Formats: sequence, structure tokens, C-alpha cells
Amino acid sequence: MASLSDNLSRVRARIKSAAERAGRKAEDVKLIAVSKTHPAETLREAIAAGAAIFGENKVQEAEGKIAEIGRDAAEWHLIGHLQSNKARKAVQLFDVIHSIDSLELATRLERICIEGGRGELPVLVQVDLAGEETKSGIGESELPGLVEFLKNCERLKFRGLMVLPPFFDEPEATRPFFVRLREIRNRLAADKVFDGPGELSMGMSHDFEVAIEEGATMVRVGTAIFGEREYH
Ligand SMILES: *Cc1c(COP(=O)(O)O)cnc(C)c1O
Repeated sequence: MASLSDNLSRVRARIKSAAERAGRKAEDVKLIAVSKTHPAETLREAIAAGAAIFGENKVQEAEGKIAEIGRDAAEWHLIGHLQSNKARKAVQLFDVIHSIDSLELATRLERICIEGGRGELPVLVQVDLAGEETKSGIGESELPGLVEFLKNCERLKFRGLMVLPPFFDEPEATRPFFVRLREIRNRLAADKVFDGPGELSMGMSHDFEVAIEEGATMVRVGTAIFGEREYH
């Protein structure tokens, strides 16, 4: 069985080749190790192997692991849907939230940051490009209102966009979603709405190379680093 450290090296090498193929630098692509369902012990092993950023999709699960490992031992990113009753906790735990999917959630987070004295909270907006009712994300038609709000926030820092396309066996099938997200990002960047150049959080274990070719600046990789997840 391949070790976590070997897996991580292999993923980094694949990120580098995909970036080079696209005329980009590997340093311009952040690797987010998606550690959901894995215990704190495994995350410690990943830190020892050089992982610096973890992606978790559930606030409650992340809370326990962050308490064990330490808030400052890594960068913590929330990549799953955030329920409004967990917003306060999420503000305490996470460095970046990728899953802003409504004006209501953004409004609540901005207020909590102000009340709780959180200086800045970098956020990404999750865009629903497939119109799938089961997936979270904001539809393109509602995006302008949310963007307008984020532009004027004091604490929320609008860093970029995230997409979680439908699953296809063939990685190439997700390419149009990545292209579309980049087009939306470019249009917003031209309007200078981002705090920074405008990140693109896109690509998972089976399609991160395609995402990098299309401009991903953050890839969220779980299985290729930690192996298959077991749900109990
Ligand atoms: C689980 C998850 C990932 C990682 O998926 P893998 O296929 O294991 O790499 C990426 N993004 C989100 C939002 C996830 O929930």
C-alpha cells in the first residue's frame, strides 16, 4: 500500500506537470488536502509529510480535529455547505470559507465577524453551474446581488469562486464547468470586485489536472492523498 507521504509527493508532481503543460507555475496552485472523515492522527501524518492546508466539509467534525491538532498547526478551509446555525462556530475555526452560497449567509457571517472581533475572513463564492437541486451553490442569476454585498463588506474579503461540478467518470467532461467558472471570474475581475486577483477553487482527485489546465489556483484533493473514504 502506498504511504500517505508517497501519495502526497505524487499529487504534487502531477500538479507541477499540469501547471507546466498550461504554461503556469506550480506555486500558483495551492493544494488543499481534503481530510474529511479521516482522524486527527492521519492529519498529523499529512502535516509531517508537508501538507499545510486542510479542507473539511463539516463544522462539527472539523471542530474536534482542530482542537486536537491546533488552530495554528495548519490552514483550515471549509469546503462544504455551511448551515446558518453553525456560522458562529465556522468563523472561530476556519481561515477561509469556500462555500458562500447565499446573500443571507454572507450577511450573517459579516455580522458575526463584527460582533466577535474577527478582523478579516477570506471567502469564496460557490457557484452552481449545473442547476442541480441537490448541490449547494448560488445560481448565476443571483450572483450579482451577492457580489455587490461582498464588495462592500468590512470583514468578509471576497477572494474568488468555487465550483463542485456533477460527477462524471471521464475527467474531460468537467472541463466546460471549469472554463465557465474562469469566464465568470475574469468578468468579475475586470469589474475589480475581488480582494486580490480572483481565486478559482476547482478540481478534485479525478479531475484536478484538467482544472489546473483551465486556471485553478486551489485544488481540493482528498482520495488521491488519503485513499478511499469509509463512511460509518
Ligand atoms: C470531498 C470533497 C473534495 C475531495 O474529493 P476527492 O474526490 O476525494 O478528491 C473536494 N471538494 C469538496 C467540496 C468535497 O466535498
